[in-house]
Amino acid sequence: MKLTVVGTGYVGLVTGACFAEMGNEVTCVDVDQKKVEGLRQGVLPIYEPGLDAIVHTNTRAGRLKFTTSLAEAMRDSNVYFIAVGTPPGEDGSADLKHVLAVAREIGQHIERYAVVVDKSTVPVGTGDRVRAAVQGEIDRRGGKVGFDIVSNPEFLKEGAAVEDFMRPDRVVIGTDSERARAIMHELYAPFVRNHDRILYMGVREAEMTKYAANAMLATRISFMNEVANLCERLGVDVESVRVGIGSDPRIGYSFIYAGCGYGGSCFPKDVKALIHMAEQQDFEPKLLRAVEDRNDSQKHLLFEKIVRRFGADLSGRTFGLWGLAFKPGTDDMREAPSIVLLHELIGAGARVVAHDPVAMDAARRELPAAWFSGGQLRFAPDQYEALKDVDAMALVTEWKPFRHPDFERMRALMKSAVIFDGRNQYDPKAMKESGFEYYGIGRGA
Ligand code: NAD
Repeated sequence: MKLTVVGTGYVGLVTGACFAEMGNEVTCVDVDQKKVEGLRQGVLPIYEPGLDAIVHTNTRAGRLKFTTSLAEAMRDSNVYFIAVGTPPGEDGSADLKHVLAVAREIGQHIERYAVVVDKSTVPVGTGDRVRAAVQGEIDRRGGKVGFDIVSNPEFLKEGAAVEDFMRPDRVVIGTDSERARAIMHELYAPFVRNHDRILYMGVREAEMTKYAANAMLATRISFMNEVANLCERLGVDVESVRVGIGSDPRIGYSFIYAGCGYGGSCFPKDVKALIHMAEQQDFEPKLLRAVEDRNDSQKHLLFEKIVRRFGADLSGRTFGLWGLAFKPGTDDMREAPSIVLLHELIGAGARVVAHDPVAMDAARRELPAAWFSGGQLRFAPDQYEALKDVDAMALVTEWKPFRHPDFERMRALMKSAVIFDGRNQYDPKAMKESGFEYYGIGRGA
């Protein structure tokens, strides 16, 4: 099939590349000219394991193209995926300006029947707004062309996006059109060959499914963080509790790790957007508010522990920071807990030397340039170099090379062997035995 994918971010680029990998002809569109030029030359704007290989193979095979012109991309395709950003607006609602701009542009150029697929995460009811935006433009030019709307939310995880897209747990297709359903089935069938995992539902149900899924995962994390904070006060090790409850198949082990808070481009904004949807219905979302509140406080926890240990004035102190990305496997810095900690440490007068295996370029673009020029923040090319003469180390992102490091080498490098482990990567007892002062999250025992 010939497809158009609008937006070449984490979702759009992965979607485009994976559909091309299955033999479709895909044109990816982005308004960001630099991104498009880079992609044409094989330079990927994001880090995502396995993505560069399939982008390069399919570009070379002529199945994957990049352009800034939606009209050009639409010319010989009849499925248009909208995969642009839906960032939070001032009031927490999902900002639909990019989605609706694309919908209007589709309406301006659509010439024959097509399926307009919303892959961006959008509030319930957006399908109707997209339909109205497309139809409005068709009417304006006196056109007569039919189209269908599909909501096809994306469930990929950054860091494993290609794998998730190629082998999805489920594909959600929201539509009321048989014709669109058949087209979507044909498109996704190659991804679910061993057993069908395509779930059909209404557009609104599909839109809500995406928010409910993210809100559930965020809830599990905030729940576990709340339990961990209580464990800490009761002299209980939350890691034992995690294993103890995870073994119940009704609970399971996923998303019950205590830590220094969730970040990323999805959970924080999607929980906010769901809260906003509830408010608009005059419904008080008590649980969702608590999930968000717990996460906001959790992001300050490492700093509070540092202050308890070193005092509020950190001038003259240096901290090593392991991990900048909001989670391992990505260079995405959106809403990363490391940003909160950096602001707090530097605000209290400390210097920080940070290392991240892939996110340092992205972080440099995100963080105040004055920190680098003023010497408050430096990036170390190596994880051990970030520990040289530091008063303490804080682990914020659980990248694999941080899981089992050379503790002897660390102790020899650090001025004082103090570790604040925001992801509970190490065993408190073993750390104590090897001469570290160790602070985890909820490791009360
Ligand atoms: P992103 O910010 O990485 O990429 C969005 C892209 O859209 C950018 O390259 C931007 O230049 C482009 N764009 C904006 N307006 C445009 C327009 N009018 N025409 C063409 N291109 C335009 O965003 P993302 O992380 O890929 O997320 C996209 C959507 O998917 C969001 O709604 C998000 O919530 C959802 N989502 C994201 C993830 C994830 O892990 N990142 C997972 C599932 C769903």
